[in-house]
Amino acid sequence: MLRIAIQKSGRLQEKSLNLLNECGLGIDNGKSELKALARNFPAEILFLRDDDIPQYVEDGVADLGILGENVILEKKKKLDIIERLGFAKCRLSIAVPKGVEYTNVHWLEGKKIATSYSRIVQDFLARHGVNADIHEISGSVEIAPGIGLADAICDIVSTGGTLMSNGLIEVETVIKSEAVLVANTQLSVEKKALIDKLMFRIAAVNKAANNKYILLNAPNNKLEQIIGVLPGMKSPTVMPLAIEGWSSVHSVLAEEDFWEIIHQLKANGAQGILVIPIEKMIL
Ligand code: ATP
Ligand code: ZN
Repeated sequence: MLRIAIQKSGRLQEKSLNLLNECGLGIDNGKSELKALARNFPAEILFLRDDDIPQYVEDGVADLGILGENVILEKKKKLDIIERLGFAKCRLSIAVPKGVEYTNVHWLEGKKIATSYSRIVQDFLARHGVNADIHEISGSVEIAPGIGLADAICDIVSTGGTLMSNGLIEVETVIKSEAVLVANTQLSVEKKALIDKLMFRIAAVNKAANNKYILLNAPNNKLEQIIGVLPGMKSPTVMPLAIEGWSSVHSVLAEEDFWEIIHQLKANGAQGILVIPIEKMIL
């Protein structure tokens, strides 16, 4: 039986649960529960505050956990990061009030910095040989300069909207973060085998999310150019249509170059292009 710790409520909760369910675990959303048993996999899910997950995984109370790298770096527990999950992407940045003449990181020398991430900030300052006074606060960090509590802050940023509405500008990126899967460092052979199984499924789900299935009709005299544009898992599937002189072409496209290829397909005479999400992709 694997014990997997995920966030009880917050930004990571829904995506963590979705990922595990897309991997076939079958977990009912136990919003008010502290734990839930997976229906289709020997796993138990523990719903915790993200800040507590590193300790639980280090102690082996949970075997696996899903949480942001920012929390891992702050807590400094002994854990193995075994997979990057690609969601909850954000950065931890230093911001100062608009109008301040910020030059470089040495501007922070002797200043007060408010943050919930004192260890990460301490490491960052030490790397740059800067001494500053770190004020650890647990929430609403962005209001600290406005109320005279600090000269600068270090907080999570994704779009920068919150900073802007508090009259702050981002001046240094301290770390970049995304959700990751972490594991206890001393797992039994049985647990490792279960984790391998889960990792195989996570890879299939993530690969599928980054790809699309595409079907199109091509006049046979343009087939060669159209196939030339398509990557495909091995090579595209080509089947004759009932109408003479036309073929149906099926392939898989990566999300990142998707639109570029669609334009090229159109330009080469493709018609009736259909794009379909892929649920799982196993190579
Ligand atoms: P908890 O109650 O579990 O302690 P929390 O308030 O500490 O929750 P959330 O705000 O839910 O945490 O954020 C969880 C994680 O999501 C953060 O640690 C970070 O990795 C990521 N995150 C936070 N803010 C953003 C954002 N604006 N965009 C993307 N990811 C974010
Ligand atoms: Zn938290």
